[in-house]
Amino acid sequence: MTDRVGFIGLGIMGRGMTRNLLNAGHAVTVWNRTAARMEEFVAAGATAAASPAALAAVCEVVILCVSDTPDVEQVLLGEQGVIHGIRPGSLVIDMSTISPQATRDLAARLAAQGVAMLDAPVSGGSEGAARGTLSIMVGGSEADFARALPLFQAMGKTITRVGEQGAGQLVKLVNQILVVVNMLAVSEALLFAQAGGLDLPKTIQAVAGGAAGSWMLSNRGTQAIVRDFRPGFTIDLQQKDVRLVLEAADQMGLPLLATGMVYQLYRSLQQQGLGHEGNHALIKALEHLALRQVGAAPDA
Ligand code: NAP
Repeated sequence: MTDRVGFIGLGIMGRGMTRNLLNAGHAVTVWNRTAARMEEFVAAGATAAASPAALAAVCEVVILCVSDTPDVEQVLLGEQGVIHGIRPGSLVIDMSTISPQATRDLAARLAAQGVAMLDAPVSGGSEGAARGTLSIMVGGSEADFARALPLFQAMGKTITRVGEQGAGQLVKLVNQILVVVNMLAVSEALLFAQAGGLDLPKTIQAVAGGAAGSWMLSNRGTQAIVRDFRPGFTIDLQQKDVRLVLEAADQMGLPLLATGMVYQLYRSLQQQGLGHEGNHALIKALEHLALRQVGAAPDA
C-alpha cells in the first residue's frame, strides 16, 4: 500500500511541491498556519487537517517545508505538533533549510518514538518547485531514502542521498555558499557593465553560455537589470541560510571571507527595510556603495 502523505507549509516552495505531489496521483493531506492558503489545495483534491498533530495521525509520511529551525521545532514538537499525532513506523521528511545540528537532535527525538526522519532540503527556487525540477539533497538511511524516492521524484529532478541524517542540510549550506557568492559576482559584474555603458541584456546573452554562465546570472541577473526585485527567495530567508553557514563554519574553525561579506551586505539591506525583496536585490547594496544604478524598469 502506498503511504498517505501529509504536507505542512504551503509557502512559495511548499505550494509548488504539493501541487506536483497531487499531479503525480498521491493522496495528500495539508496543513498551513495561515488556513486560507489551504483552500486552493482542497479545491484541487487535497484534504485539510486541523493541526500538524491531526495531519500526522492520518498520514504515514509527513513532509514539511517551513522557514527556519525554530519553526520546524514548533511544527514537530509544539503543543499541536506532529509528535503528538504520529504513529511508530512513520517517516518525517524535512524539506526546509535548517541547522544540521538541530536536524540530528530532532531525528533522535523522533527515533525515540519509533519515527524515522530524512532531511531533504532543496534548491532550484520557486521555479523549480513549480515545475517539479528541484535538486533534493537527502540525509538519512538507505531504506528511508528508498521509501521516499517516489515522492521526491514527483517534486524534483536531481535527487541525491548525500549521507546520514544532517548531511542533506550540510550539502544545502554548501549550495548556499555557491548561490550567494555567485550573486555577489553577478552584482559586481553587472554594475561594471553598466558603468562601462554596455547593453545589459546583450552582455548577459554573450556570457551566459560560456564558462561564466550560472543559474543566478540567467535567472536573477536578468530580473535585476529590469529592476524586478520580486522574491523567488527573500533576503530575510537567504540571510537565515547565510547565518546557518557562518554558524557551522564557526564550529569548524573555518574562515569564510566572501560569505561573511555577503552577510554584512544583506544586513545593510535588511536595515533599509528590504528584507522582503528577492535575494538578487544584493545588487542594491553595491549600487549604494557605487552611487550608481543598474538597468531600468521596463516601463521607465
Ligand atoms: P515562505 O514562502 O515564507 O513560506 C514559509 C512557510 O512556512 C509558510 O507556509 C508559513 O506559514 C510556514 N511557517 C513559517 N513559520 C511557521 C511556524 N512557526 N509554524 C507553522 N508554519 C510556519 O518560504 P519559502 O520560500 O517557501 O521557504 C520555505 C523553506 O524552503 C525555507 O527553509 C527556505 O529556506 C527553503 N527554500 C526556499 C527556496 C526559495 O527559493 N524560496 C529555495 C530553496 C529552499 P504561513 O503561510 O502561515 O506564513
